[in-house]
Amino acid sequence: MARIGFIGLGNMGGPMARNLLKAGHEVRGFDLSPAALEAFAAAGGTVVSGGVAAAEGAEFLVTMLPAGKHVRDTYLSQSGLAAATAPGAVLIDSSTIDVATAREVAAAMPRPMLDAPVSGGTMGAENGTLAFMVGGPKDAFDKAQPVFQAMGKTIVHCGGPGNGQVVKACNNMMLAVTMIGTCEAFIMAEKLGVSAQTLFDVTSKATAQSWAITSYCPVPGPVPASPANRDYKPGFAAALMEKDLGLAQQAAADAGMTAAMGAKALALYQAFTAGGGAGQDFSGIIEMLRQG
Ligand code: NAD
Repeated sequence: MARIGFIGLGNMGGPMARNLLKAGHEVRGFDLSPAALEAFAAAGGTVVSGGVAAAEGAEFLVTMLPAGKHVRDTYLSQSGLAAATAPGAVLIDSSTIDVATAREVAAAMPRPMLDAPVSGGTMGAENGTLAFMVGGPKDAFDKAQPVFQAMGKTIVHCGGPGNGQVVKACNNMMLAVTMIGTCEAFIMAEKLGVSAQTLFDVTSKATAQSWAITSYCPVPGPVPASPANRDYKPGFAAALMEKDLGLAQQAAADAGMTAAMGAKALALYQAFTAGGGAGQDFSGIIEMLRQG
């Protein structure tokens, strides 16, 4: 069993660290929030006084922080943090951040670093069924398998540093664009006299089939487990989708391209969150689109 440092024990990091403990690893954790530390201690984790203390002697250091600036501050500004880990240690950042920061931080580290953003939300974190998309050296990826397997189910090596973040940005941009198109189609069918169930029965099996229809249908009824059936309680909050679409636009700019549909999706989600939808599930955007 490994000695693991864990920084960022919030909605995602908390349950991820608990799954590492359940798998028998020794986990030393740090967070700025006393409540997060309390929950971690109650689950059997060892609370330490700071980031460097979490890293001290660790064979793996995992970070799960809100955004790129927190990742930069943790790895680049806390003097000696990465060097405090055990020789041969692997650094794993699972936060969702911009590709450029992921690459810059990895290049500055004295230890191999993996960017390993996740998909699956808080439920996936609780159940240990997250999907990890991982960028960085293949030997570090192989070495970190026991860590990933304790927290996730699908673990894919996507190539060199930053490539995990590239795949995450691509996935969520595709999902947002698909969800908005799905919402528009359900509204159009409804206005022209076709029931949601009929549209679902056809499109869930026809060429338009997608996860947005079959797992997350944005109208109540056809998919009983979708957030539409519980007043769009998340699920995956619109504020997080807005954040990820912003990262996707940054990635598009880095690639020297215009992702026109991604830009439009970002503008629509910005309008939705500004109008009070930030805490709703991202499929709740159908309510705003219905007014348009
Ligand atoms: P969160 O805000 O619940 O947790 C972040 C934690 O980091 C907080 O507890 C905060 O106190 C702590 N923190 C911030 N700066 C710190 C520092 N310098 N040192 C120590 N701790 C610090 O956020 P979350 O929902 O757990 O999301 C974490 C990351 O996962 C984000 O990048 C998010 O985009 C991504 N993500 C979230 C979800 C989701 O459904 N919540 C899904 C996929 C990916």
